Amino acid sequence: MKLYGVCKCGNCEVVAEGSIELSTLVPRICDCEYCQLHPSAVVSSPNMAVSVKAEASSIYQAVNGSGQAVFYHCKGCNQLLAVGAIFSGVSLGAVNACLFGNSDQFAEPISIQPWLLSPAEKMARWSKLWGGLKICYA
Ligand SMILES: [Zn+2]
Ligand SMILES: [Zn+2]
Repeated sequence: MKLYGVCKCGNCEVVAEGSIELSTLVPRICDCEYCQLHPSAVVSSPNMAVSVKAEASSIYQAVNGSGQAVFYHCKGCNQLLAVGAIFSGVSLGAVNACLFGNSDQFAEPISIQPWLLSPAEKMARWSKLWGGLKICYA
């Protein structure tokens, strides 16, 4: 499958591709303060690679509480594009499912509380859940 998404203002595009059924991807809605402020439902799979395409000036990066992951946002509309981290030199991450118009092609979303996990537990979890993440600056 190959999915194209775009942020609300249209400045940033994302492409997700891989050999995976959309209906098996479960959007994860985090209930931390940061994510309440920046609503998103992230999806990822080790079998799905995500690329974000935008002008370097259209994206800003933010780190949340534990500072382990980088959140990529559009500067124009503030929408979360993707979240990622580097694992042994490899960039892995998850993409905001809200960018792909028709979100009912995904599985039923679940709510998660990653702040309950220790930093080591979080890294272990992400390394299993996330797929390749590329940020391509135009
Ligand atoms: Zn935007
Ligand atoms: Zn959160």
